[in-house]
Amino acid sequence: MIILSKLIRKGATELVELFKSDPRLIEEYIVSVYEVIDRVEDLVRSYITLRPLNEVLADGAKVRETLTNGFKGRLAGLLVAVKDVIVTKNLRTTCASKILYDFIPPYNATVIERIIGEGGIVVGKTNMDEFAMGSTTENSAFFKTRNPWDLDRVPGGSSGGSAVAVAAYEASIALGSDTGGSIRVPAAYTGIVGIKPTYGLVSRYGLISYGTSLEQIGPMARNVSDLALLLSVIAGYDPHDSTSLKVRDLNYMEFLKPTPMKKYRIAIIRECVSEGVDNTVLTAFNRSLRRFEEEGLEVLEVSIPIIKYALPAYYIIAMAEASSNLARYDGIRYGYHVSVEGRTWDEVYTEVRSEGFGLEVKKRILLGTFVLSAGYYDQYYLKASKIRKLLYDEFMKLFKEVDVVVTPTTPTTPPRFGEALTDPLKLYLLDTYTVVANLTGLPAISIPSDIVNDVPVGLQLIGPRLSEGYLINLAYIHELKSGLKDLVPTAVSGYV
Ligand code: GLN
Repeated sequence: MIILSKLIRKGATELVELFKSDPRLIEEYIVSVYEVIDRVEDLVRSYITLRPLNEVLADGAKVRETLTNGFKGRLAGLLVAVKDVIVTKNLRTTCASKILYDFIPPYNATVIERIIGEGGIVVGKTNMDEFAMGSTTENSAFFKTRNPWDLDRVPGGSSGGSAVAVAAYEASIALGSDTGGSIRVPAAYTGIVGIKPTYGLVSRYGLISYGTSLEQIGPMARNVSDLALLLSVIAGYDPHDSTSLKVRDLNYMEFLKPTPMKKYRIAIIRECVSEGVDNTVLTAFNRSLRRFEEEGLEVLEVSIPIIKYALPAYYIIAMAEASSNLARYDGIRYGYHVSVEGRTWDEVYTEVRSEGFGLEVKKRILLGTFVLSAGYYDQYYLKASKIRKLLYDEFMKLFKEVDVVVTPTTPTTPPRFGEALTDPLKLYLLDTYTVVANLTGLPAISIPSDIVNDVPVGLQLIGPRLSEGYLINLAYIHELKSGLKDLVPTAVSGYV
């Protein structure tokens, strides 16, 4: 039996420091991560495309050389897993869809350029729900990813592959994308941390679009420090993204303070802890609240009745945007193709889209087209947009009184395979608490709240625009008090 290097269990922040003092360790680290992948990948299946070890070692050698020459890259030598919705130059990017099964992008997303610029190394592209539509990763056209805490359960989605790659020690950090909870839900279900940044903080250039007005790329990590590190690298203005905010770059590591950086007032939303929440989730939630109270922070309860319309409004808007974003897949210039000889445009287009898209994607294109169609627009899309505005106003009002809102990340613990898929309503309900942050554009982080019956439960903190630093401060305090960091999931504990 091979004894794994001690480097495997180390966090990203610590590893970079080690590599800077001894760049030769990068090779040992890369080889060990690949050993872990060899052992656990068959069980959990995080990666759609894994780069060959020799290529990654060659990248590692380059980083080693630059470090020796004084390079100060903040991610020097780290292996980063990337959700397969973010384009990577010369590396297949599928969106977990048959329609893009052989798509090799000619350019890198801005976030990828930034990661490489800091010495990070992309290790592979991770599994997800097709076009990020789903909450369990069961909608991937290729295979299912399993939860390393319990292989019979889903890892959450849609960034399930990224969450599992990090949770199962197959990468040090990862990128996910979040349109309605896709970073936070799988983070909660796998016992890691994930943040959906303020809309516009992280460039979306090179993110394959699903719900353009809702989504953001964000970091996923095994502890708050690693999350802050990756966020510091990817956040910032990008002229390639017209929705990018012109804000000054921040070092989020400065918010890793063991005590509150201000006298936070924390609000619980009554509607999010009353109906439809599992008892296990509530128990964990209350324990987390107690930790904040022990820090001398005030916790109060507020009511936002309109929140019950957030989920339907989200699904109407997300589907409407999806129907327009996905119109571009015609199978002509790239992706799934069929023979065009002697056939009409309609025939080709119909065949490509009927065969290339999965069921959930087709359903959303149809419903999205419907809610935008003449006669129904007012009833659905317009109404949903109004709810969105009212919800935003409510939160703006609330943030005059309080600094942060807390909810459980999800109302339930991870479902078993098939459980959520058989009942679409149950599936959509998983996003009840997360969609709020996407509709309002606010930043929201999910952190481990507790482990109950051997399954992790997540806590969500939502803050005002650009309050990522404070969310990180609170998350860090909670992590110190709970000890819930760098967790080792049961199903892979014998392998890492
Ligand atoms: N589950 C939600 C949906 O299916 C959110 C997905 C996401 O955030 N990409 O739309």
